[in-house]
Amino acid sequence: MTKPKIAFFDFTSCEGCQLTVVDLLQTHLGLLDLVEIVQFREAMTEKGEDYQIAFIEGSCTRESDEERLYKIREQADLVVALGACAHLGGVNAMKNRWSIENVQTYVYGENGKDNYESYGARPISAVIKVDAAIPGCPIDRFEFLKIVQMVLQGRTPKLPDYPLCVECKLKENGCLNTMGKPCLGPITRAGCNAICPTYGDGCEACRGFAPEANFEYMREILRGHGLSEEDIDARFSMFNHYQLMQMGEDAPLSKPIVEPDAPLPTSTFAAPQEN
Ligand code: SF4
Ligand code: SF4
Ligand code: SF4
Repeated sequence: MTKPKIAFFDFTSCEGCQLTVVDLLQTHLGLLDLVEIVQFREAMTEKGEDYQIAFIEGSCTRESDEERLYKIREQADLVVALGACAHLGGVNAMKNRWSIENVQTYVYGENGKDNYESYGARPISAVIKVDAAIPGCPIDRFEFLKIVQMVLQGRTPKLPDYPLCVECKLKENGCLNTMGKPCLGPITRAGCNAICPTYGDGCEACRGFAPEANFEYMREILRGHGLSEEDIDARFSMFNHYQLMQMGEDAPLSKPIVEPDAPLPTSTFAAPQEN
């Protein structure tokens, strides 16, 4: 039997989702009986251009990304967005709050805008048709496995359409929001098995928002934790800035979060101290 050929591509990302796949392959080598990997920069040198399924990690953040994305789409029968950067725009889209010139200067210095190409970060679905998405920052390895199996069987993967709290309650976790720790579980799409709350960390909505999320009630809960309206906006937009911008005036924000010329936050990295 000829095995389907798959390829991995990275755009603007930390490559953590690809690393999760490498990690998975160490314990699930059987996956290689089902597919032939022809391109995977994280794990091999060869670069085969003949593939049927493309996994794309990272967001589109510059004009030259578009041509590469079109080429992948032209070759692949199926395109899968791998992780929050590709699926939602993810943390990369936080920069869309400011003008690109402002961000380029902040990151690369005075000549940044002349030397480094950049524009507003977008999910890959804003540029090409995407057949399936594996959410998360990083992806959940077992969800990756499940979605690959479904794709190979010719089935269309569907993401859970209920909030994270459902999974969290099934695990019989105590609710962090009742213990003084903010958690965005009520407005977040399930599928990661509530991993962060299970280990005591509040969810930050890296899988995107659940359908029909009750943002107003979520804001009320977060106000109860003493968070300011601005803090709540920041939490909502950490992974979902692009989605909020797409909602326009319906975005559940206290004020518009696009401030092209506002000063960027001061770096939290302290300069090395001289002895
Ligand atoms: S989704 Fe998260 S882990 Fe995956 S590439 Fe983007 S930043 Fe890295
Ligand atoms: S800890 Fe978070 S995910 Fe779990 S039930 Fe509470 S709000 Fe929902
Ligand atoms: S619990 Fe929330 S932040 Fe953590 S992986 Fe799941 S969706 Fe992402």
